[in-house]
Amino acid sequence: MQVRFWGTRGSLAKPGAATVRYGGNTSCVEVRSAAGTRLVLDCGTGGHELGQAILREGKPSRGHMLISHTHWDHIQGIPFFAPFFVPGHRWQIYGPQGFSESLKDTLAGQMEYTYFPVTLDAFGAEVSYNNLGEGRLVIDDVVITTRYLNHPALALAFRIETDGATLVYACDHEPHTCDPASQRVTLEGQDLAHAQFMNDADLIIHDAQYLPEEYDAKRGWGHSTVDYAVLIARTAGARRIALSHHDPMRSDDAIDAAVARLRREAAADGPEIFAAAEGLVFDLGNRNPEPASAASSPVVTNMPAAIRSGPSGEIARVLLITGHDALEDRIAKAVSEEPVHLARVSSVGAARKTIDKLHPGLILVEGEVDGEELGTLRGARTDETVPIVQLGGSGPVANGAVDRLCEPWSTEYARARIRTWLMRSECHWMPAPIPDDEASRLAALHALGILDTPPEERFDRFTRLAAALFHAPVALISFVDEDRQWFKSCFGFDECESSRESSFCAHAILARSLLVVPDALMDMRFRDNPLVASGPRVRFYAGAPIRTPEGHLVGTLCILDFRPRDLSQQERGLLVDLAASMEAELSRFKRAGP
Ligand SMILES: [Zn+2]
Ligand SMILES: [Zn+2]
Repeated sequence: MQVRFWGTRGSLAKPGAATVRYGGNTSCVEVRSAAGTRLVLDCGTGGHELGQAILREGKPSRGHMLISHTHWDHIQGIPFFAPFFVPGHRWQIYGPQGFSESLKDTLAGQMEYTYFPVTLDAFGAEVSYNNLGEGRLVIDDVVITTRYLNHPALALAFRIETDGATLVYACDHEPHTCDPASQRVTLEGQDLAHAQFMNDADLIIHDAQYLPEEYDAKRGWGHSTVDYAVLIARTAGARRIALSHHDPMRSDDAIDAAVARLRREAAADGPEIFAAAEGLVFDLGNRNPEPASAASSPVVTNMPAAIRSGPSGEIARVLLITGHDALEDRIAKAVSEEPVHLARVSSVGAARKTIDKLHPGLILVEGEVDGEELGTLRGARTDETVPIVQLGGSGPVANGAVDRLCEPWSTEYARARIRTWLMRSECHWMPAPIPDDEASRLAALHALGILDTPPEERFDRFTRLAAALFHAPVALISFVDEDRQWFKSCFGFDECESSRESSFCAHAILARSLLVVPDALMDMRFRDNPLVASGPRVRFYAGAPIRTPEGHLVGTLCILDFRPRDLSQQERGLLVDLAASMEAELSRFKRAGP
C-alpha cells in the first residue's frame, strides 16, 4: 500500500513562505494498493495537483474518493479535480450524508451558479455517489471500516486494510471526554474506542490542529491537539503517527518545534512521530500482497446514513432528563429537523416510568450523575443497549453512560452526536418476516418429531456431500422453529442451534426458493446480523428450502463460507437437487418417528 500526501492543512488553504515545507493545501491523501486500486481520502485543495498528476498518466483513471465530511476544506478540490471532467474516467465518491440532503446534493451545493461557473452535471467522467454510515465496505482488494468522529458535522474516520498493512485516516476529530490540556495519560470511554478503532495500524493520519495551550479557546470546534493525536496512536499500538490538518496559523518552524517536543517526551516503545507534509510518500505492508481481483463487482454500500423510521413508520424516541427549560430548548432545536420524538422528565428519579412507556432509543441526562443513579434507569423493560449520553460536565463519563457532550456545544454538535448514537443503537439487520402459513408450518415441523433428535448418518451424508461439492467450509441442515433455528446436521460448525432472528434460512423459507447471498456485508438484510458482524463472520450463504411431504417449508439445506463468493447456475441447480433428495429422507423420518 502506497500513501501520498497532497494536502495537509486544516480549515483553510494557506500558501506562503511560512508553510512551504509542510504545505498550504487542505486535506487530500492518495492511497494505492499493490494491485492498483486507487483511493483518494478527502479532496481539499490538494486534490487539484493530484488530479493533474492523474491526467499526466495519460490513460483513463478509475478511482474511489472517500470524503470524511463535507466541510469546505475537505471538498474544495472536487470542482477542480480534472479526471472528473474527462470522458472515459470512472470514479465513485463516498461520504456521510449531510443533515438534510444526500452526499450528491451537498456536493452540488458548492457548485451552484452563485459560487462556481460549472455544475456537477458538467462532469464528463462517469461519477457516482454513495452515502456512507458506520460499518464496512469492500472495494476490490481493499477493506474499509468506518467510524464516526466527534465533530460538529457527521464525519467519518476510515480504517483501510490491504496488502497486509493498515492505514487509518481520522480528520476532523475532537477528544470526547479526555482533556488534552491536562496531564492525564490514559484514555477511557469513547476516546478509548476511538483508539481501539485504529488498533495495530501501520500508519495513523490524525487531526492535530492545536497545541495544548491553544485548546481551551477552541473547545467545541471539533479538533484535536498534537498531544492527543500521539496519545491515541500510542494507545492503539500504532507504528507511525502523521500529525495532520495543521492549523492555518501554524508555520513550518512551529510544526518542527511541536514534533521535536513530542519526540523528546515520547515513550521509547511509542509510535514514530512526524508531521504530514505535501509530497511525502510511504510504502506500507506488502507482507501479503492480495492478487488483483478478477471480477471487480460494482461496489454496493448499504450503510444507513440517516436516522431511519421504523418498519411501521415509527420515529426514534429520545428522552431528555433535565430540570432546565433552556437546555430542553437547545436540544429541541438540535433535533428539530430529525425524525425524532423528544420527551423530557425533570429528574433521574422521575424517569423510570417514562422509560417503560416510551422505550427511548437514546437517553440524554444533564450534568454529573453517578453510576448508581444511572442504574435505576435500566429496568426490566429497558434494553441494556440503549445509550445514555451525559450533557455538560467534564472528565470520564459515569458508569453506565457511553459518551459526554462537553460544553460549549453548538446545535450542530449536539445534532451530530444525537444522530450518531441513534444510528448506532438502531438495529440494522432485518429478521425475516413471519410467513403467512406460520401456524400450519410449525405444526407440520413439530409433527415430524425431528427437533432435538441426535445426529444421524443418513442426514450427515448430505451436509458432507454439500461441503465437498461446493468447496464450502460449512454445510447445515437447518429447521426454522418458532424462535430458533435448530440444526439436524452440522458440517464444519459447532453450534446446534441459533436464534431465529439472525437466521438466513428464515429468509430462504420466506423466499420459497433457493436464496444466495454472495456477500452478506454488502447486503442490507444481513450486514449487521450477529453471524456476520461478529461471531463466525459469515460472508456467503446459499440455502435451498426443504419441504415436508405435505409441502410446508420447514428448513433448508445450506452452505456457508467466510469469504464472498457465488454459485454458477449449474451449482445452484445441484444444491436444489441435493435438498430435494434430502426431503425423501424426511418422509422416511416421519414414518419411523414417534
Ligand atoms: Zn477540516
Ligand atoms: Zn470539519
